[in-house]
Amino acid sequence: MRIGFPRALYYFDYYPFWAGFFHCLDIEVVTSPPTHRQIMDQGLKKASDETCLPLKLLAGHIQAFKDVDWIFLPRIVSVEADTYTCPKFLGIPESMLPAIPPGMSVLTVNLNWRKGKRQVLKDLEVLGEQLGKSKADIRKAFSQGLEWQQNYQDSMGAEWNFEESIREINRARKNSTESVQVPTLVRLKDRVLAKLPARTSKYTPESRIVDQKTTERLRIGLVGHSYLTHESYANLNLLKRLREKATVELVQNVNQEEVKRHLSGLRKKLFWSHSKQIYGAGKKFVADQKVDGIIYLTCFGCGTDSMVQELVSHKAREQHKPYMVVTLDEHSGEAGLVTRLEAFLDMVERRRAHEGYVSTYGECLDRNSNTV
Ligand code: SF4
Repeated sequence: MRIGFPRALYYFDYYPFWAGFFHCLDIEVVTSPPTHRQIMDQGLKKASDETCLPLKLLAGHIQAFKDVDWIFLPRIVSVEADTYTCPKFLGIPESMLPAIPPGMSVLTVNLNWRKGKRQVLKDLEVLGEQLGKSKADIRKAFSQGLEWQQNYQDSMGAEWNFEESIREINRARKNSTESVQVPTLVRLKDRVLAKLPARTSKYTPESRIVDQKTTERLRIGLVGHSYLTHESYANLNLLKRLREKATVELVQNVNQEEVKRHLSGLRKKLFWSHSKQIYGAGKKFVADQKVDGIIYLTCFGCGTDSMVQELVSHKAREQHKPYMVVTLDEHSGEAGLVTRLEAFLDMVERRRAHEGYVSTYGECLDRNSNTV
């Protein structure tokens, strides 16, 4: 049995779970290819005009499947207590039905972690019945999915490369034997980190100016949904371009304790899981003296970002942190993005180099003083 898993939206957060889950059930998971022009065009034809770019891309990826038994479109209602996913997530799979190629079937399941792990397991058992799997099989697959997801999350760090971690999961899936059940992501992370050039000195407030002027790269916080920051076609290779010039901190790599700590000042709780992560991590970047500037990556039609972006920008203004918003849509042009990016990085770099500089040139303003 082959299940089509679109390389869009929840792929960027939860693919490890589903890869582990279906692998344990002996079901092959086929992902659509990385986004290209045709996928984007197909998505634009089938998705509603008012929806956001990631949903349009999802519609395009769905149409890229040729030879699968089912297209998997889970309805992810919530992933933790007290929050929901964005309303557009909740509308899947129905909102995607016009994009389903003729003759193909949709496989779906409701996932609502607000109702607890037991309920999630029950819902997965219903899915299992459809696939001809027993409850025991589903329980085992569920544990494996959680384990893979946990390993994936543990392996995330500031320098972590999403594509490498997914490659490693797929390698583990293909080469899996009885003794190799879990992707060796943590070991892979060590390998990736070992390849990175060592920093010349440890950060201390005193060493900061000398350090930065001579050796340290710029450090930029990239704030936005995982399916925008890692979607290199839609974001015109923004992450790669940034990494060529600066060390990039991603909101997905900020741990939950830090996020919670920075959410504490809000008068009202945020409803949406992604927005919580984005706001909490964004606020942490604002407060972090090691982060030189922040880029907020958003897209037209994103309801949650219309509020959260304002909140983060307000915090950045308060702290005089350099801040830029990049809004993507299907018409975004590469030249415009490159120009804005270079201008922003130049500005951050100049600011860092000259921030503490006070010119001694010129007349003394206080003429009555006997100091020079
Ligand atoms: S959070 Fe924004 S970008 Fe993501 S699915 Fe919802 S509206 Fe679209």
